[in-house]
Amino acid sequence: MKQVTDYFGSLVFDDKVMKSKLSSDVYKKLKKTIQDGEELDISVANSVAQAMKDWAIELGATHFTHWFQPMTGVTAEKHDSFISPAGDDRVIMEFKGKELVKGEPDASSFPSGGLRATCEARGYTAWDPTSYAFIKDKVLCIPTAFCSYSGEALDKKTPLLRSMQAIKKQAMRVLKLFGNENVSSVKTTVGPEQEYFLIDKDAYLKRPDLIYTGRTLFGAMPPKGQELEDHYFGVIKPRVQEFMNDLNEELWKLGILGKTEHNEVAPAQHELAPIFSTTNIAADHNQITMEIMQKIAKKHDMVCLLHEKPFKGVNGSGKHNNWSISTNTGINLLEPGDTPIENAQFLLFLVAVIKAVDEYQDLLRISVASAGNDFRLGANEAPPAIISMFIGSELQDVLDSIETGKPLKTHGKSFLKIGADVLPDLPKDTTDRNRTSPFAFTGNKFEFRAVGSSESISCANIMLNTAVAEELKKFADILEKSKDFDNDLHKLIKDTIIKHKRIIFNGNGYDDSWIEEAKKRGLLNLKSTPEALPYYLDKKNVELFTSHNIYTINEINARYEIAQEHYAKVVNIEALTTLDMVNKYYLPAISKFSNFLTETINNKKALNIEADYELDTLKIISSVSNKVYKLQNELKANLAKRDEIKDVKELSLFLKDHVLTVMESLREEIDGIEPIVSKEYWPFISYGDLLYSVK
Ligand code: ADP
Ligand code: MG
Repeated sequence: MKQVTDYFGSLVFDDKVMKSKLSSDVYKKLKKTIQDGEELDISVANSVAQAMKDWAIELGATHFTHWFQPMTGVTAEKHDSFISPAGDDRVIMEFKGKELVKGEPDASSFPSGGLRATCEARGYTAWDPTSYAFIKDKVLCIPTAFCSYSGEALDKKTPLLRSMQAIKKQAMRVLKLFGNENVSSVKTTVGPEQEYFLIDKDAYLKRPDLIYTGRTLFGAMPPKGQELEDHYFGVIKPRVQEFMNDLNEELWKLGILGKTEHNEVAPAQHELAPIFSTTNIAADHNQITMEIMQKIAKKHDMVCLLHEKPFKGVNGSGKHNNWSISTNTGINLLEPGDTPIENAQFLLFLVAVIKAVDEYQDLLRISVASAGNDFRLGANEAPPAIISMFIGSELQDVLDSIETGKPLKTHGKSFLKIGADVLPDLPKDTTDRNRTSPFAFTGNKFEFRAVGSSESISCANIMLNTAVAEELKKFADILEKSKDFDNDLHKLIKDTIIKHKRIIFNGNGYDDSWIEEAKKRGLLNLKSTPEALPYYLDKKNVELFTSHNIYTINEINARYEIAQEHYAKVVNIEALTTLDMVNKYYLPAISKFSNFLTETINNKKALNIEADYELDTLKIISSVSNKVYKLQNELKANLAKRDEIKDVKELSLFLKDHVLTVMESLREEIDGIEPIVSKEYWPFISYGDLLYSVK
């Protein structure tokens, strides 16, 4: 039997491999680069490249690639083989330091939001040595950042690394104030829980909507959905278990800490959670995980759906972004401590997060905005589109006590002076979870639950890291000047609670009354992507990004344009697929069935037999057919108008209001008659056959 401990990380050029394959001098220099971001000199890079290549070839690799994450949301790679002519018609395997450190892919077909129009057409990729190289399908993959020649970020990794740098800088200032002399670095950590659907490949191939858009655009609910709640944590089917076993093995070989697997709420829905790691590594690993899930599913004749809402009427998929901050000495800064001073420090970080979420609700909302996620947020299955925080009753008590100066309610003890009194034990209790909150404190970390299942986690973490960095900066600015630290700290925490407590909501986020309440509190409710995106360009947000060197103004504009364009493209593809299905399949199918009914009616009439079923059905489907025909004309006409709208903001709003809505009406008509049309005539596989396709 293969032991996991033997093959875990076997395809990763990790620390253990580096130590054994590099001279101690080169190893030390590389380590320094990894830890402190110091630049590698070319001779060191050459030695690392040589060792990496030899190691990769031993494991069967023939090619290398700079593996990067352009703004398409998926990963990109261009393979180059190691071969180099050596005379006498022979080749040698070569890989130089400069090829490791920098690459120049032809970048002209990646979205740049106009960035490259103003500068060079080429882009370059630069090695991120903090994320280990790995081997995938005989290719040595080198995690890289992707920039334009003038240094503008064209990817999701670069700003993520910048945001980690920003929060590190500010957190270090704060930690110094609390006397943490031995801390030399601070990193944010993330554990992304990934939800997905598995359906049989043959069933999938019978659905053009799944093939083109990743979600079903039509389909009536089957007799059984998720109402019995029998799928959640249910026994895993053997075929799915085999998939999970294979998946785990692949992930483990790549050093990805796949930990928890279970069935989710909806039929055919599952979840995989890894053990958390440093944010940029978690982001890389999540991208690889999504890719490998799809690959392994195919091997098992299934398809893995990562779309946020593949099926109407059953839960969609999200990605819970568990987030915390920790020091290089192993302290989790969102973990309440044992001593008064540790508790004071914890409370300051806590209120920094509270303030950050309140001040930058819009950015957090934008970070999870996509055409797919719009169907999920606020649909009583996922957190609403309103960003709020859950902190639990114990912590709420502590904050109340600080705010009012009154003793703690539940503990009877007082907690009046931060830095002097010990916090009561806060239970790290998983039962006190509020599943309806988009941003929940879970004992020693926050769980951002609004992230979509198919999205890269980078954007959410860029926003989160930067917003918290900003609040820590403001706090450090005040406290560094303080003459009476304890008092000023107390005041700062208290004032922050008073000013930002509106963002805390411990109740049921699915309840309609919360929408009213949130409105009264002045919280944003950005229901859709087109409504959320323009906030990107708000003055306060531009200031935030530019002052922490996350994005230049050009980069912000570019990202905004790309997000808008992406939304428009997605809706456009969905609308075209809708028209295709209606005109080529549904309408003709209804006609055929009508024909069959008419014939039967005539035959029965000739025999003087009543034909109530046929007549009634014929009337209903004929009237629906007429409505569908009108609606598809309306959809066509509206879609034709898109070219006249030049402004990206107007266009996405138009598509939401005049294209998606008509698509929805069409769907309602067609789904409405699906239960009364003979299966023999219905052109597509039903929800029941899709959702229960994996036996
Ligand atoms: P669940 O949410 O299923 O009850 P856990 O709370 O144990 O499970 O963990 C959920 C995810 O949070 C896991 O991926 C876990 O590794 C991650 N996690 C735990 N601690 C931290 C932390 N300090 N920072 C980031 N993620 C963490
Ligand atoms: Mg969880």
